[in-house]
Amino acid sequence: MIIAEIITIGDELLLGETTDTNAGYIARKLSGIGLSVQFKSTVGDSLERIEETIRHALKRAQLVITTGGLGPTDDDLTKKVLVKFFKRQLVLNEQLLEEIRERYHRRGIEMPAINEEQALLPNNSTIFKNDIGSAAGIGIIENDYYFISLPGVPTEMRHVLDNEVIPFLAKQNFGQAIKITTLRLNGIVESSLAEIISAELEIEPGVKLAYLPSESGVDLRIVATADSKEKAENKAQKLVKQIEKKVGRFVYGYDSDSLQSVTGQLLSDNDKSLAVAESCTGGKLGEIITSVPGSSKYFAGGIIAYSNDVKVSELGVKKTTLNKYGAVSAETAIEMALGARKRFSADFALSITGVAGPGGGTDEKPVGLTFIGLASAHKSFAKEFNFGRDRETNRARASYAALELLRKDILDLEIE
Ligand code: ATP
Ligand code: MG
Repeated sequence: MIIAEIITIGDELLLGETTDTNAGYIARKLSGIGLSVQFKSTVGDSLERIEETIRHALKRAQLVITTGGLGPTDDDLTKKVLVKFFKRQLVLNEQLLEEIRERYHRRGIEMPAINEEQALLPNNSTIFKNDIGSAAGIGIIENDYYFISLPGVPTEMRHVLDNEVIPFLAKQNFGQAIKITTLRLNGIVESSLAEIISAELEIEPGVKLAYLPSESGVDLRIVATADSKEKAENKAQKLVKQIEKKVGRFVYGYDSDSLQSVTGQLLSDNDKSLAVAESCTGGKLGEIITSVPGSSKYFAGGIIAYSNDVKVSELGVKKTTLNKYGAVSAETAIEMALGARKRFSADFALSITGVAGPGGGTDEKPVGLTFIGLASAHKSFAKEFNFGRDRETNRARASYAALELLRKDILDLEIE
């Protein structure tokens, strides 16, 4: 088993002015390919202390990844440490220099001379290309260790890690083949899922399960290890099939699928359109739907009907309905969905109305109570949900639950 260690570099991280988001991201990705992250540390901008931290890390880990301090300014020290520690020389990489110059050129800026420094890389190093910034990742790879330095800017770090480093590491023969499959579920809580799986399924040796709850549901990550790729894949596939037999109706997708991409695909495959009417989510559902490139093909638009007046004037919700049942009710949700469907001439409409919190709850309608409505050519209905106490979580969970309702409806799955 390969032991990995992550080092994040920068005074601002050490002092708490910037929250370290890189280490967690890298750790998730490394464990995603079966590497065992056992240590993380943060060190300030000091030559001696960066060197000391690297020395320490390489004594106990075969893979060390650092972030930060790769830039061209005086406070960026990582490369200086690498040269000294690994006894390398900096050599100019002409191709990299050209690429950096070209990137500035495209932005209509002459490359500042200081950036030339970024094309100086330690000899015998592996470059992990950075298409969105000028600090490339630097790998110093030897027989007994892998040392990789990545830029600090989180977007750049993620880009280089996802596109260059993880594919590179996944290809290395670390002695074991790994297959990772993530099942994405909505509508079942983590503990129920775990209970069903541990009570009814036998997990083979070499297979690890992780339950990862989030606002969009629960992800079930299956990591299968074996001595060949094929065996690892078979192990994972066998378990996926068994799990699907038990809880398949909650599985909306796999790996990089999302509820918005899956429902979007369903709408687009069926040549159907969608509109939304949102109260407590204030546009969040629309935002999530439109985060998918190409969503204009099926998403018509939405109305944020936060006040009762707007529910009446823009969506045609009846005043009597509001008076009799209240804004947070199945009846109002249904009328909101019908109104949006009509207003946008859409095939489907989703509506959300609920008590997001933290205030506004009553005994009868507590914080978290939410109704999600759906209207289509054939029917209209609303489903009641009871989310938690946290406003932001409620708003997100309601939005994803609405998409799941649509998915089930389009696929004609039973809605409990
Ligand atoms: P640059 O070429 O931009 O100088 P760099 O590799 O030198 O990149 P730093 O100078 O260390 O990176 O950091 C650049 C920016 O990224 C800073 O705003 C810093 O606060 C932020 N940053 C660095 N490391 C992290 C981290 N671990 N988590 C979150 N933000 C970080
Ligand atoms: Mg910098």
